[in-house]
Formats: sequence, C-alpha cells, structure tokens
Amino acid sequence: MNEAATQPQVETAPLLLTPGPLTTSRTVKEQMLVDHGTWDDEYKEDTQQVRAALVKLANASKKTYTAVLMQGSGTFAVESTIGTAVPKQGATLMIAINGAYGQRMAQIADYLGINHVDVVFDEDEVTGLEKIMDKLAAHPEVTHFAMVHCETTTGILNPIETLIPKIHAMGIVTIVDAMSSFGGIPINVEALGIDYLISSSNKCIQGVPGFGLVIAKRQTIDQTAGNARSLALDLYDQYQCFEVHDGKWRFTSPTHVVYAFLQALKELAAEGGVPARNRRYAHNEKTLRQGMMTLGYQPVIDEAVQSPIITSFRYPSKDFNFQKFYNYLKEKGFIIYPGKVSTIDSFRIGNIGQVFNDDMVRLLALIKQYSVVEV
Ligand SMILES: *Cc1c(COP(=O)(O)O)cnc(C)c1O
Repeated sequence: MNEAATQPQVETAPLLLTPGPLTTSRTVKEQMLVDHGTWDDEYKEDTQQVRAALVKLANASKKTYTAVLMQGSGTFAVESTIGTAVPKQGATLMIAINGAYGQRMAQIADYLGINHVDVVFDEDEVTGLEKIMDKLAAHPEVTHFAMVHCETTTGILNPIETLIPKIHAMGIVTIVDAMSSFGGIPINVEALGIDYLISSSNKCIQGVPGFGLVIAKRQTIDQTAGNARSLALDLYDQYQCFEVHDGKWRFTSPTHVVYAFLQALKELAAEGGVPARNRRYAHNEKTLRQGMMTLGYQPVIDEAVQSPIITSFRYPSKDFNFQKFYNYLKEKGFIIYPGKVSTIDSFRIGNIGQVFNDDMVRLLALIKQYSVVEV
C-alpha cells in the first residue's frame, strides 16, 4: 500500500466530487512539472508501457487485444471509435440509451451519417436484455452495437455481463462506453467478448484530462482500415502508428498527461488494483447514500442497480436552491455536480478520485449543518 493511495490528503483546493475530472493525488500532479519530447525513445517506451498496462487492466491478453490512446477528452475517443469501427457501407449501429451519454453516441452517429437504431429506456431503468433482443430481431440489418456501462447521467450501472456475450454471439461488433467505470469496476473485456471498450485518462484510473483510451480486439480493429470519417480521429491509423513505430503517437501528444497517467497506474497497482479501488469507491458510495438518506435526501437510482461511481439525489423539497447549496459546499471545500436527469430535479455527488470515506463523513457533517440552517 503506498501512502498516496491510502491517506486522505490535506489540500487547500476543494475536493472534486465530480465524475471526471476528479481529485488526483499530489504525486500524480507532480509528474507534470517536467517537459518531455515526443520523439524520445524513453517516451515511446512509456507509451508502450501504458498501452500494455491498460490491456492487462481490461483482463485481456495482449495477443488478442490492443490499447489505442487518442488525444482529447473521452468524447473524442467515443467519436473516433464509432467513426472508425462502423464501415461506410452496409452497416447499422444499434445504440442502447438510458441517459445523456447514450444520447451522445446517437448524436455522433448523426454527425457522421451512420445508420443507427436507438433502443431508448427511461433514465432510472437499466438497458434490459428483453427489449434489446426484440429490437435486434426486428432489425436484422444491425452489424454494430453500442452501450454505456455506468451511465454517469444518473450513476446507474447497465448490465454488460448479460448483454454483451449474447450480442457478441450473434456476430455483432460490440462497443462499450466504460468511460466512468473502467479502473473502478472490474471488467472482463476478453471473456465478455467486447470488441471496443472506451475510457479516458481522467476517470477511475485517476489521471488528469488529456486523452481517451480504447481497448480493442485486434481481429476487429485490423479490419477497419479506411473506415474513418475524420483524419485526426482515425482510430485505425492511430493504432497502426503505435504498432509500427513502437509507441509513437500520430500528431502532438499530451506528454505531461501521459507521465501523470503512468504514475496514476502505479498508484492504482499500489492500492491493490481494480478490486481494491472498487471497494474504496463502494465504501464511499455506501457512506454517502446512507448518510444522505438519514438527512432526508432520496437517491434517484434503485440500490440494486446503483454504481459505486456517482450518486444522484432528488431535491429534498420543491424550493430547494441548488446553487446556494453548491456555493455553501464549495466554500467548505467540496465541489459537487448538478443533476442531468431530464425528468427529475436532482444533483449528483461523485464517489471516485482521490477521495476517502473520511471525506464523505466530513461532507455529510457539512450537509447536516446546512440542512439544520436551511430546512
Ligand atoms: C465522462 C464521460 C464521457 C466523456 O466525456 P468527456 O467530457 O468528453 O470526457 C463519456 N461517457 C461517459 C459515460 C462519461 O462518464
């Protein structure tokens, strides 16, 4: 166990209880004090090390899977994957939607002119098997399927374990946006038959923002040459450059972010890997959820399908002033997140990042005080 991973930090800046960017350790931030060249062999080796570590974190073998890094925020990696995975002719993408990030994939498909069939669920309901199978039966033209693992809109956890193997067995290429869950929830990418799993540097691996990452099945991505609708977001070309030039990125890469990410990977391993991190996040979530309920705040998502990543709460009353609540907590050292559920007035509190149970306990004490004063 290293100290950075286990000790709550004394920080002057507020803690980000937001699902990315999130609170990072001081040691991760310190990696960014040095400038690095991109042609340097050491940097290329470090990039290769990051790629290898990601395949391992995905519980996949490096023979069968590869990791491709893509400059930009997470959405750039989603757009890059969809725009490269789906051929220009004779392909249809099905998208399971129960929140803003599923909707965003549909929007990406619209921008790129990709045929898509949407399966839409309520935001407080998981993307269930039955409805998806019915829709697939009605649309035999579907060649690709995309879904979100943890829908960060609400914090609901969608059942990739039941859906992906069935859809994969139908010969459909599978894409999972695991942006907010990868590194914080164990995922068996190879065993499930996921073709593309997408995340980013600034979520559960606890790096800083700057690149997205795609764990891709080699056999699948190997067939995508020439598919991309964008030069900068050509995932295949990016993959080839990494492979052929031993870790060389196409175009300028976020060098500082890569070094911070390497440190974040070390700290994840020191903490005990994804299972240990999952336990810490789940503990944070449980403390938060139970404490908030005691204070009269009701969660939006049913406990059975609640992720350990982020928790949505209903406004405690009709005239609840979120901005005032936000400002109060910010002043006391916590940044929380507005709600994103379209039909329910809510706000969100993230459980991920360099955040510990003690921080949640402190937060709850502040909210209790606020409630005493306000309600
Ligand atoms: C954070 C997130 C994204 C990407 O968002 P960016 O702002 O582009 O980094 C995509 N999907 C999910 C589920 C997310 O949580």
